[in-house]
Amino acid sequence: MAEMKNYDYIVIGSGIGGLFTSALLAKSGAKVCLLEQHKVPGGYGHSFSFKGYTFGAELHYIWNCSANEDGGKIFRKLGLDNEITFTPLNEQCFDRLEFPGFSYEIAKGFDLNAQKLSELFPGHRKGLKRYFNIIETLHDEMTKMPFSFSLRDLLPYAFRLRHVLRYKNWTTQDLFNHLGFPLQLQSILAGQSGNLLLSPDQSSLLVHAAMVTGLDRSACVPTHGYQHLFSTLSTFIAACPDCDVLFGCQVTNIDCDGNHVLNVVTADGRELSADNYIYNGDPKLLGQLSGEAPPVAFGKKLNYSYSPSAFTLYLGLKDIDLPSFGFGAWNVWHYADESVNKSFAKPLAEVVYENPTLFISTPTLHGAERNAPDGCEQMVVCTPCSYDYFKSFEMQGRKTYLAEKKRITNLMLDQVEKHYIPNLRDHIDLLIAGSPLTMERYMFAPKGNCYGADLTPHNFNIGKLDYRSPYSNLFFVGATAGIPSFAGGIHFAALLYEKLTGDKVL
Ligand SMILES: Cc1cc2nc3c(=O)[nH]c(=O)nc-3n(C[C@H](O)[C@H](O)[C@H](O)COP(=O)(O)OP(=O)(O)OC[C@H]3O[C@@H](n4cnc5c(N)ncnc54)[C@H](O)[C@@H]3O)c2cc1C
Repeated sequence: MAEMKNYDYIVIGSGIGGLFTSALLAKSGAKVCLLEQHKVPGGYGHSFSFKGYTFGAELHYIWNCSANEDGGKIFRKLGLDNEITFTPLNEQCFDRLEFPGFSYEIAKGFDLNAQKLSELFPGHRKGLKRYFNIIETLHDEMTKMPFSFSLRDLLPYAFRLRHVLRYKNWTTQDLFNHLGFPLQLQSILAGQSGNLLLSPDQSSLLVHAAMVTGLDRSACVPTHGYQHLFSTLSTFIAACPDCDVLFGCQVTNIDCDGNHVLNVVTADGRELSADNYIYNGDPKLLGQLSGEAPPVAFGKKLNYSYSPSAFTLYLGLKDIDLPSFGFGAWNVWHYADESVNKSFAKPLAEVVYENPTLFISTPTLHGAERNAPDGCEQMVVCTPCSYDYFKSFEMQGRKTYLAEKKRITNLMLDQVEKHYIPNLRDHIDLLIAGSPLTMERYMFAPKGNCYGADLTPHNFNIGKLDYRSPYSNLFFVGATAGIPSFAGGIHFAALLYEKLTGDKVL
């Protein structure tokens, strides 16, 4: 049944990209309708609660939110800067790296890290200076890029983006090789690679630079938690005049006339129309909604591989003093091998979990709202893994799939007990495990991908997909159209808003 209300914008998906674009448009006076198939806002940024614990599903720490960065500017624009604030992680160590035989604590400040690392690797003082200089320059140039990756649009900025253009085909490993760094130093500098779910021999140097520099400048968490942040935004949108936010509302069809979108149809039979549409889902899935194959030239932009998936344990812990086991306002990256390349290759290709590489976060120690029952703690443990592996178990039946989930859970717990907390299991008050299939089911993320398109130089390069779709009035926003992460999501949402309205935010 057709609904009469005509919106300026219909936004499909309330992930970071969809939610922030909607909020900015709604604040500007546009009539916005935000449609989300899940019950809650945020996409991968959503939260869920059990037994008094509220877990941020997939955001563990974020950046680009201080007053003079994108987050500060956006929340000021929305008038929400007093309500949504951020708490920095520990500046002496916000990421602790543990390799077999050596460890390193990443502190805030490239100069400080260059100094610390030069003492550990005295022959590489000059190379380290050059390394940090290159990645900081790449980060700063990237923040000035327009939201278009076509050569024609980038050429006028060729001088301003000269390092981006020079290094666009490099992997992180190419830079390590170029500077002649030894393996241990490479591993330390690539120690946050889990944030890309790619080893340095595959990851785009540009994306590595954006992530490492962004974290260095402002690694933080929302003071009142992720649930508060995303629900504040969706309540804000719903309260704007002539705006609506509908949850449990899956868009199943997009009706088009040539290259013009006419309306969307939802699973419960609603027809909704707008002048413009914004799509926050996976761009490859758009064809399923419209029932049309993309034009050949555009189809090439959809020829991306997906980023890998992950298996996550959400633990509620009781009667435990986590700081006494070395945890705090930082994350722990536990590597199975002294080479980050090898640590990622195994779980993603061979599916060897006996000695898993882990990311361990302790949100209740981050200095922000605790979101756990009094006296209890949260711990989130993540490992990279293959979607196809879990799919093969699901195809053998639910019992087999659940048994494999249990086996992997136990291997991860064994690893934490062996290296960090000997009797962890005695303290478990709540345990929830999410596999790649869980991510696909809840987030509509094909193959349970964590970051949209794989963050290789092939995918993240000139000519890549950006906000433009084959339809004149439908625009993409989100990890694949821009860059993944909270920081990247809000940046590209603001750029899309600026493009659509001509109003400046950043
Ligand atoms: C394991 C893991 C750990 C991560 N850790 C961090 C971290 O610590 N810090 C960080 O900054 N980033 C992290 N990320 C990355 C970050 O979460 C994502 O890059 C970001 O949330 C993606 O936002 P997005 O805008 O692309 O939307 P998505 O999160 O992909 O959301 C898209 C939304 O659209 C909805 N949707 C899709 N199709 C339809 C439809 N047809 N109808 C209605 N709704 C639809 C979906 O339900 C979903 O809510 C992590 C990701 C993962 C998976």
